[in-house]
Amino acid sequence: MNEFYRTKGIIIGKRDFLEADKILTVFTEDFGKISVKAKGIKKIKAKLAGHLEMFNCVDLELIKGRSHYVVVGAQAIKTFENIKKDFDRTSAFYYTTEILAKILAENAPQTNLFHFLLAIFSRLEEKNDKIFLLILFFELNVLDFLGFKPELMVCVGCRENIYGHTFFFSDERGGILCETCQNSDIFSTTISQNALKLMRLLVSKDFSFIEKIKIRSDITNEVKNINGFFLEHILGRKLRSADFVTIKQI
Ligand SMILES: [Zn+2]
Repeated sequence: MNEFYRTKGIIIGKRDFLEADKILTVFTEDFGKISVKAKGIKKIKAKLAGHLEMFNCVDLELIKGRSHYVVVGAQAIKTFENIKKDFDRTSAFYYTTEILAKILAENAPQTNLFHFLLAIFSRLEEKNDKIFLLILFFELNVLDFLGFKPELMVCVGCRENIYGHTFFFSDERGGILCETCQNSDIFSTTISQNALKLMRLLVSKDFSFIEKIKIRSDITNEVKNINGFFLEHILGRKLRSADFVTIKQI
């Protein structure tokens, strides 16, 4: 008798498997990222297929096969239609789910991160603004959930409070370097005081401030660059959808 499981999950990846099957990558509330086999989803207009579209949040019924979970029941809870019909928001979908598909380990529960992602998607679904800022918020907090939060308060070299006007960000050392310690990582890049302030705000896990805040685009672009390089450093490979997140800043 196969064991039966029930959980909520967001579909973050999909690929063909054999003739008619698909393997879905699902970020679940209870089991973290898992691979799920959906049988016959391509061939016949399976009843489940509509529920198992990319980015949907779904109630899943699963049994455990030899190599994968197999989906035996699915009911979409949220299909995020407003996001799917908007180009900028859809690119945000691709970008966030690509990061998660790459950064999450299989079968390692991340329930708080799951709820965080659902909150980000719900915000994107309801409002069509500040998408760029929301992406920055997502990037830094995902790193935090997974134990890679950059040090933004003290210098990672001397552990002193940072002073002066010139700071550096080191991917290798995972945070801010002061002017004195900058030579400990010759690849560190300068970061402005305003960009550092914004990054500190973004790791707060509370995005109500996003509603109120108005930030110059040169500052958000600076943070985007720093986040992007740091994420790639952590992932050890280039993110495919990073280049096509060319979301207009509103
Ligand atoms: Zn230092």
